[in-house]
Amino acid sequence: MNMDRKEILGEVGRVVVKVGTSSITMGGDTVSSEFMDSVAEQVRKLRDGGKEVLIVTSGAIGIGLKAMNAKPKPKEIPVRQAAASVGQSILMQKWNDSFQKQGIVVAQILITLNDYSDRETILNLNNTIDSLLSYNVVPIFNENDAICVKEIGPMFGDNDTLSAVIASRADADLLVILSDVDGLYTKNPSLHEDAAFIPTVTELTPEILEMAGDTMSSTGTGGMRTKLKAAAICKDAGCRMIIALSTEKDVLLRAATGEDIGTVFVSDTHISKKKRWMKAAHSMGTVVIDDGAMKALTEHRSLLPVGVKEVTGQFSKGDVIDIVCKGEIVAKATPNYSSEEISRIRGMHSDRIRDVLGKCPYNDVALSENIALM
Ligand code: ADP
Repeated sequence: MNMDRKEILGEVGRVVVKVGTSSITMGGDTVSSEFMDSVAEQVRKLRDGGKEVLIVTSGAIGIGLKAMNAKPKPKEIPVRQAAASVGQSILMQKWNDSFQKQGIVVAQILITLNDYSDRETILNLNNTIDSLLSYNVVPIFNENDAICVKEIGPMFGDNDTLSAVIASRADADLLVILSDVDGLYTKNPSLHEDAAFIPTVTELTPEILEMAGDTMSSTGTGGMRTKLKAAAICKDAGCRMIIALSTEKDVLLRAATGEDIGTVFVSDTHISKKKRWMKAAHSMGTVVIDDGAMKALTEHRSLLPVGVKEVTGQFSKGDVIDIVCKGEIVAKATPNYSSEEISRIRGMHSDRIRDVLGKCPYNDVALSENIALM
């Protein structure tokens, strides 16, 4: 489908830019200062045009491994973590150098999924972002890989997802993912010559999702799969997303000003910021519900104890939990009661809550405004 790009983008005030590992290194094994200088210059031009820009950068582990003279893609977790901490500071030094040439101050924000999943921390992060932007600072984000690994605890795991979460959190109008591919194709273009380019995606249909194969680059971690996951997160936030080729001249500038470049993901939906946060947060436990409760949720009604079959994990009131029906996560929610309390009132009518718990501040396990359907 060919839609007018300027019309799709509308007014773009706040832009998040994700720079992938393969872009930072321009396919090689060292950081490309030329590329980073070019990004910094384009960001300066966007800011001159009145836009606010935030960056999510990859590349720390690869850079760290090289600096440490370690072998690429090590299996040992401590080596990867050490490389992340070495590489992160080199990476920031390079970004700082590039932005300094444009007279722009940058800030480093390292985040983990655990931090993100804590309501207080994330509300506080919003204040930090607003404050930095009000001082014309460009915030540069990365996952704090030095202290989190997927083998040990919850992680975003890739910066496509992280950048979409940041875009959603910061109420950005546009996320630009700069990659080693110029957009979405019907199949992986590095494997299939007959892959056809898709300029515009209006719906994330199962067909579109199937187009994403795994990453082919040796340094990137996400591939197209995580970029489509990012598109879904952006869609919830009413944020447009563009995947474009990082080496194309002035790619960021052109993408953010409505030039026909890359693949654009249209977004017209918008769910509340709290629900978006829940959907991306790490869950502390699970509540299994029956079909009747499932029907209520799809009709945007609250979850009553009578529809709860089972509770697992340990969580408090207000923590993020998974709502599961027939073995599938159907929603995320912040409950009104703890796991221990819900275990005691599950399957009961709400008028029994007071008898069992000795209190009844709520008739519902979770209010509809605190339930985000997946
Ligand atoms: P980055 O480091 O920029 O995140 P990745 O290597 O992780 O880049 O992801 C981009 C790669 O995804 C492409 O180079 C390509 O090999 C692969 N890919 C898989 N399926 C598709 C598709 N349908 N369209 C485009 N690229 C695809």
